Amino acid sequence: MNIFSFTANFDSEESCRNHFKSERDKLGVICQKCSHSEHYWIKSRWSYECKNCRSRTSLRSGTIMQSSNLSFMIWYKTMFLLSMTKKGFSSKEIQKQLGLKRYESVWAIGMIAIL
Ligand SMILES: [Zn+2]
Repeated sequence: MNIFSFTANFDSEESCRNHFKSERDKLGVICQKCSHSEHYWIKSRWSYECKNCRSRTSLRSGTIMQSSNLSFMIWYKTMFLLSMTKKGFSSKEIQKQLGLKRYESVWAIGMIAIL
């Protein structure tokens, strides 16, 4: 993906969120309370609701963005810039550079692969 198609595809916070949600759906969402894997999507809250115990999981929770206040768009731009470096990053390097936990760096790599 080059910078033109990137900006065309991810031109707003909502388009980034929608893309993030579709990728998260592919990976699946596991309820943190009861480990159930089926959820309803509550668009007005950008959250999943467990079909079993009704506990809610926000789109960000359990991902690299969980403890971040940065917008999805900033994350996408960062990932895009990272993906443009020809050098390539190991997951260890990303983990170190961004100060991430292991599962978060796996997410970061996944995002780079998508972009
Ligand atoms: Zn549940």
